[in-house]
Amino acid sequence: MASKKPGARQPLSRARPRAVSKPGLSVAQPRSLSALKKKLSATTPARNIVRRKRRPPADPATVYERLTREYPRAQCALVHDSPYQLIVATILSAQCTDARVNLVTPRLFATYPRASDLADADPTELEQIIQSTGFFRNKSRSLIGMASAVVAEHQGEIPDSMEELFQLPGVGRKTANVVLGNAFGINEGVVVDTHVGRLSARLGFSRHSDPVKIEQDLIRRFPRDSWTILAHLLISHGRAICVARRPRCEECVLSDICPSSLV
Ligand code: SF4
Repeated sequence: MASKKPGARQPLSRARPRAVSKPGLSVAQPRSLSALKKKLSATTPARNIVRRKRRPPADPATVYERLTREYPRAQCALVHDSPYQLIVATILSAQCTDARVNLVTPRLFATYPRASDLADADPTELEQIIQSTGFFRNKSRSLIGMASAVVAEHQGEIPDSMEELFQLPGVGRKTANVVLGNAFGINEGVVVDTHVGRLSARLGFSRHSDPVKIEQDLIRRFPRDSWTILAHLLISHGRAICVARRPRCEECVLSDICPSSLV
């Protein structure tokens, strides 16, 4: 018979601690962290659980009134003189700053002053002019396609309805809203860009990330005649104070009503 040496390791099957039955203690021991958490949450008295309450959304009328006072000159930042120039600038502004677009458009509008000129543009020459705005091949295709459709179907004039604008190549709901609101003075919807989306979430106006759903939430909360300027106000505030990384809540005129305020 083999004798056991002092200090020799036992086989794992025998080394595992056994459940010990003691009065007042459960015999079954949780085997994993998640099981332990589940067990604790099941036995923790309700009074010990601290739940953070969701704060109510900011009052739309107050937000509008304060931002109007704060940014009395809020307006479309894309320099333009006509619906044609604005639709071109808006197409170029995808994934690009308005400031960069404004550097490019003077030469672009001088080279192609009307939709018919842009429709006949040489793609290589156009790409070279708009190159610094990024995605220039796609944008060049969209610009020539849009201008060709405007010439073929609208006698060279930019149409003034959502339905017709939406049919043009390279024109989505956001571009159509920009053109309708700022070139024609028609409040058809709210422009939702990255700033408007972020502020809508922080102010509690929308819980969606889809721009179309955010727009619907804003339309429900604000009167129609404010839709165009509302986007400019939110964009101005998003650029100046409610910036993406670390909002400057301590300087914000909405900090007492904003559900995301850090002060
Ligand atoms: S309080 Fe803060 S989070 Fe709310 S809108 Fe102002 S800067 Fe943005």
